[in-house]
Amino acid sequence: MEKIVSLCRRRGFIFPSSEIYGGLSSCWDYGPLGVELKQNIKQAWWRAVVQERDDIVGLDASILMHPQTWTASGHLQGFVDPLVECKNCHLRWRSEDLTGNNCPSCGGELTEPRLFNLMFKTFMGPIEEAASVVYLRPETAQGIFVNFQNVVNTTRMRLPFGIAQIGKAFRNEITTGNFIFRTREFEQMEIEFFVKPGTDEEWFNYWVEERINWYVKLGIKKENLRLHKHTKEELAHYARVCYDIDYLFPMGWAELEGIANRGDFDLVQHASFSGKSLDYFDEETKEHIIPYIIEPSAGVDRSALAFLCDAYDEQLAEGEIRVILHLHPALAPIKVAVLPLSRREKLVAVAKQIYADLRQCWMVNYDDAQSIGRRYRRQDEIGTPFCVTVDFQSLEDEQVTIRDRETMNQIRLPIAELKSTLQAKLEGEPLFVLPPGGAIWKE
Ligand code: ATP
Repeated sequence: MEKIVSLCRRRGFIFPSSEIYGGLSSCWDYGPLGVELKQNIKQAWWRAVVQERDDIVGLDASILMHPQTWTASGHLQGFVDPLVECKNCHLRWRSEDLTGNNCPSCGGELTEPRLFNLMFKTFMGPIEEAASVVYLRPETAQGIFVNFQNVVNTTRMRLPFGIAQIGKAFRNEITTGNFIFRTREFEQMEIEFFVKPGTDEEWFNYWVEERINWYVKLGIKKENLRLHKHTKEELAHYARVCYDIDYLFPMGWAELEGIANRGDFDLVQHASFSGKSLDYFDEETKEHIIPYIIEPSAGVDRSALAFLCDAYDEQLAEGEIRVILHLHPALAPIKVAVLPLSRREKLVAVAKQIYADLRQCWMVNYDDAQSIGRRYRRQDEIGTPFCVTVDFQSLEDEQVTIRDRETMNQIRLPIAELKSTLQAKLEGEPLFVLPPGGAIWKE
């Protein structure tokens, strides 16, 4: 973990929040590369669950919601008892339910009992009084449940269908730590998938498989993922069944994403507290039903940490340690780096033109500082899949080389074919299919 934290700090992925004031516990700022990585994770998720599907639509609900939401959801009542938290597995226990001094689940050490509510409280409007209390949402899910009827009425979505949302959530966690793994402000990517009761088990299994595949397709090694089924004691009050997708983080196995079968709990609760009907008219059976909900709930920050950990590698090259991030091209913050071999005017003009051209399509770096070897290493360290090198020969033959991060192999090809070749390779074409007339050699 130390190496990941240090790389993130050094290369501008992630900084401690408000660092000049000494930082703020468990809060982090995403720097120029981190913000790209995070954006790419969110984009890949959105693409897989909204863009490429016809049974899920998106939503962006507000962070502040009517306070009744949290009474209906159980968040307000859930945390008024004295609770202790296990320092190891972070399960929370009501102190009065405990018989021993250790965590009943893993035997870990427990924190002191505390009366607390996990939600951040604030005031709406200029007067700080009880009537104006609002909460920062502790999950994005509730914004989806309360909009269920709006989506049914304004779209042609019919069961089974889902609503997806990405957004910030806030929890006043007692124990934070492990870098961006558990923080008090974080971002979630949640799907609430509404299904007919009776089909919920099938859909639950479908989503577990689908979500594991998403991580694997984006490069997470299968052996670093496992499923953990919640025991009766672990199960949240709203869930019928829940599986965690765990990832083998440097500190051990820990939850990356939770997938729950929430039954009809949420729609029943919100219908009851709001007095509005949240049922669904089934055209086939001509019956009013309350859909069941399958919820795959992932964290953007935890995903970023998992992708970084999985991609991190050190190799020995020419007696030096070569740090490399094997990030999937879709996630890499910078897709291509343009590297002129020298700062001579003629060469710079060609390189700058290529740079301007490629930037129309992707995030591209231009780097002309230090030796070409060092520049390659810098790009390897931040996971840039391809470097384009412009040399003196380029001025004569209008060709450049593409160097591949994974193999360090290079191909030479006409500048005119550069964009389409990069496009194909970034979209997954085998990295080293030779273009006509191209040559391949090792660095
Ligand atoms: P944990 O037990 O690890 O705190 P949780 O079971 O409370 O997590 P959920 O309520 O299931 O988490 O939230 C869904 C997802 O949101 C988690 O799998 C995780 O990726 C992310 N998440 C939850 N809490 C945090 C947090 N404090 N910091 C970063 N990500 C979080």
